[in-house]
Amino acid sequence: MGRSLQALAERSATELEAVSPKVADLLAKVEVRNVLDLLMLYPRRWIDRTREARIADLRPGEEGLVMATVRAARLVPARGRGRPRVEVVVHDGTASMTVTFFNQPWRAKQLRSGMPVTVFGKLDLFRGARQMVNPVIDLLGDSADLGAIVPIYPQSGDLTTSMIRKAVAEALRRTRAFEEPLPPTVLDEVDVLDRTRAFHLIHGPDSMAAAHAARKRLAFDELLRLQLILVLRKRAYERSARGIPHTVGGDGGRLVKTFLESLPFELTATQRRAIARLQKDLSSPLPMHRLLQGDVGSGKTIVAVAALLTAVQGGWQGALMAPTEVLAEQHLLSIRPLLAGLTVDDEASLFGAREVNVRLLTSKTPAKERAELLPALARGEVDILVGTHALLTEQVGFASLGCVVVDEQHKFGVEQRAALRDKGGETDPDLLVMTATPIPRTAAMTVFGDLDVTVLDELPPGRTPIETVWAHTPMDVEIAWGAVRQAVAAGRQAYVVCPLVEDSEKLQATSAVAEHERLAGHDLAGLRLGLLHGQMPSTDKEAVMTRFRHGELDVLVATTVIEVGVDVPNATVMVIEDADRFGLAQLHQLRGRVGRGAHVSRCFLLGGADERGQPLSDEVAQRLGAMVRTTDGFELAEVDLELRGEGTILGSRQKGRSDLKLASLRRDKALVAEARRVAFSLVGDDGHGLDRLPALKAEVEWLVDPAESDYLFKS
Ligand code: ADP
Ligand code: MG
Repeated sequence: MGRSLQALAERSATELEAVSPKVADLLAKVEVRNVLDLLMLYPRRWIDRTREARIADLRPGEEGLVMATVRAARLVPARGRGRPRVEVVVHDGTASMTVTFFNQPWRAKQLRSGMPVTVFGKLDLFRGARQMVNPVIDLLGDSADLGAIVPIYPQSGDLTTSMIRKAVAEALRRTRAFEEPLPPTVLDEVDVLDRTRAFHLIHGPDSMAAAHAARKRLAFDELLRLQLILVLRKRAYERSARGIPHTVGGDGGRLVKTFLESLPFELTATQRRAIARLQKDLSSPLPMHRLLQGDVGSGKTIVAVAALLTAVQGGWQGALMAPTEVLAEQHLLSIRPLLAGLTVDDEASLFGAREVNVRLLTSKTPAKERAELLPALARGEVDILVGTHALLTEQVGFASLGCVVVDEQHKFGVEQRAALRDKGGETDPDLLVMTATPIPRTAAMTVFGDLDVTVLDELPPGRTPIETVWAHTPMDVEIAWGAVRQAVAAGRQAYVVCPLVEDSEKLQATSAVAEHERLAGHDLAGLRLGLLHGQMPSTDKEAVMTRFRHGELDVLVATTVIEVGVDVPNATVMVIEDADRFGLAQLHQLRGRVGRGAHVSRCFLLGGADERGQPLSDEVAQRLGAMVRTTDGFELAEVDLELRGEGTILGSRQKGRSDLKLASLRRDKALVAEARRVAFSLVGDDGHGLDRLPALKAEVEWLVDPAESDYLFKS
């Protein structure tokens, strides 16, 4: 029997002879404490020595990898207009060259005479002498017994590759064999190495192909563990026998039917399909647990209201939770008129019926109103409660919560979802989460893998495409403000989004106030400007939004509080200042505020360039360029993933033992899908498949947090 990961995690790294107290301290700095941590400190990459070049043979302009020894290193202070730099002389036995680092002053201390290093970069001639500027450099420590392929470990401070190599080699030797948790059929299907070989080869490959095969197995393990947790969570929800079989009937039910017939427009085909799908979930005795993904403006609200009404028509209550007050208020404002005239049975009423009662609850709801609202909610007299996090507080109790909708899911965590669901008491309300943030498919499988997914991939008809301009020269900026004035002259309205101020709502508000004043005095003098930011009292916010909605204001100067939910079809121009400071997802959300009516809409992105109109960086050019090129949210999401990596998508959700160290949602798309497929097949329809694979079950049980373990594994 080989060793399990759990067993390795119980052995301290200091038990290894190669780990002296000094090395142990260095390892602790990179979070390596036990033997498993050490074995999972994977090489950052491998150097293929069969492709090693010699300094003397490299021609100017040619790229190459050389192994050399440091002769000298010195810091050259800035002189005149020059920048400070570190110059390192290295020699490989054939010739020497100067390696120059800009903006890395610490290199002068790090690289000492006599150290073996590998250097990868492009050779130049500088005043006739060989040099490489800012190459990739790795410390090898002592270079004895280097094989053909040299693993390079993440380096930090004094921790060298050779210290890690020695410790890892000893750990592997002592571990001998690893326990193999996967059945051989799975190894075959996915075409991966067994775990023992994978761990040995990732740290000491005999060819690049072997290194990649080892990586594939260990990356697959990471993805599979995550998917197993998600699939187990999904099956655990489904096992709950406390769901509510809502009544739907052949026609969707009385309220839903009346509601849909009263809409001033035809539903799109995808909306109709989504509602049918939701009603199928709602009528089942298993609690619904579904994600509705739809780009801004795709009409998710109607679908959500149909779900809520499905519960209400059977005498249950519904809740709609939004991440901000502005959005909650906006939801209330858009939902109320849609429900006008719809009635529910009420024995206490003279006519045996009353209008569907929709109420708002946020942390700003006055105490007096709250004192009246909460008892009414507990008596079942409120049919739909719209609100923010305030819905989660203890005092909020429903009489019979039947359906919960959570908007902009990415702003809420799994725990908050669960807290709202728990408001159901004896029964588990059906849950619909919505997001307008498009996520690439494989990423969605990982972030929302415990939910069923429905996508609204069609916009309602009559939308006009948005033309986007990156206004990077002063002339372009003039044109942008001109476009605002023209639109207003033609009876349209506009948004100006103020520069993003990091980390402080207060500063953000101050900057919005200043920008509002500046625009009123300059570029937009004479127009009716309104101001909206997060620090305003909610009554003021509401008043401004109402005036803008009624066309009493021409331009709304706002912070990102308008990012989600604001819906004014007459607004056709958006100017985003310092657009380079915003992420792609946020720019896309902001832009979605225009293009909602029949008039042609335009979006101007300001900033991201220097005085001469040159992009500030490649990354900025790619980000803003993507905005100009497409309005397709999924395409932008792919670009975002390329540019920023997955950290931003996974956020804090995948911290800890189930971290992705090797796997990448970007590069390993096929492997993600494969891991998901395998997870479903191993867990099985009944959720108990892992009982037949005790080693795997124990590993996953050890990974999830103990509070969740009970819930996932006992039923
Ligand atoms: P989002 O998905 O961004 O939440 P909304 O639900 O706010 O989108 O819908 C955006 C706008 O489109 C609203 O004004 C809504 O009334 C309108 N709308 C929704 N469905 C349709 C449809 N099928 N035809 C025309 N307009 C629609
Ligand atoms: Mg919406």
